[in-house]
Amino acid sequence: MLKKFLTCFSLLLVLVFAATAQAKSAELTRINAFDLDDETLRIEISYRGGKIEAGDVSTDLSSGILRVELDNTLPGRVSRVSGTQIDSDTKNFVERILTNKTRTNHTSIQVQFNSATEGSVKFFLEPADRSDKKDARVVVDMKKNFADNSLNQYFDGDGQIIVLDPGHGGSDAGAIGPTGVTEKSVSLAVSLKAQRLLEDSGYQVVMTRTTDIDVAAPGVSDAVELQARVNKAPPNAALFISVHCNAFSTGKANGMETYHAPNAVKGSRLARLLNEELARLGGLSNRGVKAARFYVMTHSQCPASLIELGFITNPREEKLLASEDYQQKLAQAITNAVNRYFNQGGFD
Ligand SMILES: [Zn+2]
Repeated sequence: MLKKFLTCFSLLLVLVFAATAQAKSAELTRINAFDLDDETLRIEISYRGGKIEAGDVSTDLSSGILRVELDNTLPGRVSRVSGTQIDSDTKNFVERILTNKTRTNHTSIQVQFNSATEGSVKFFLEPADRSDKKDARVVVDMKKNFADNSLNQYFDGDGQIIVLDPGHGGSDAGAIGPTGVTEKSVSLAVSLKAQRLLEDSGYQVVMTRTTDIDVAAPGVSDAVELQARVNKAPPNAALFISVHCNAFSTGKANGMETYHAPNAVKGSRLARLLNEELARLGGLSNRGVKAARFYVMTHSQCPASLIELGFITNPREEKLLASEDYQQKLAQAITNAVNRYFNQGGFD
């Protein structure tokens, strides 16, 4: 008992120490703004003394101002004019950069533009580079929107969280085609491709699985397995999309279809957009948009849809579903539907 107490106590010490260590704020040393190319403005925010992680950073571009919010930071040197450098070419575009400490350990950076500006924003983290005498950096890239660009090309997913659920996996192969192609492998391949495309469009993607595994554990009940998938969605997830292939006792059944939970207004809109984009690919018959009480849709906290990409039991569709090229097209269709879901503000 005493030993247990001591163990707990030392664990507590470690935790307290870890919390203290983590509280050390990064001090911003410099902000550089320059044109990376004709379309991209890059803001490099350099810092020292602490560690900034992806979860500390958020960006927002609205009302013609790009805001970068940084937790675990002090404005440091950049709150003085000399700490902020705007390239001479970029000055046509960026009017000024303001830095403020808005609360303890939080720095707010505002990039103000000379004219009304739209675009999409991404950021990434760069470690310090001693050989180049560079501090660690938060690098924010803003792709400027021009009037003639299509929405899909430069759509800003704005960090919204999309949950992709590749159906089945691990001990559960799902349906199996006449030549042995498994539903679990098709659903995973398409979902991983969609993940990439969605992330390129500025979304955050949460995958219920990224490899050939049972999400809960092998041999558990369907409800336990499916609830484990639903639980992967963070509370602020925007959409949940489950990817499956259909099956029937004969090889004749064919076509794709999308599902939503009964009476789910947003879910049915998502299912309709997914169906429209999949139909655009051609080649498969369209079985339409349907309501059903699939577990992941009725238990999801956010708008949800389940896609049946095609019949894996149909020899022609099995071949299509297994092809890398068609999988990529399916992934693009999913991405287009998500973009349309957010682009068109509920009117589509
Ligand atoms: Zn399935």
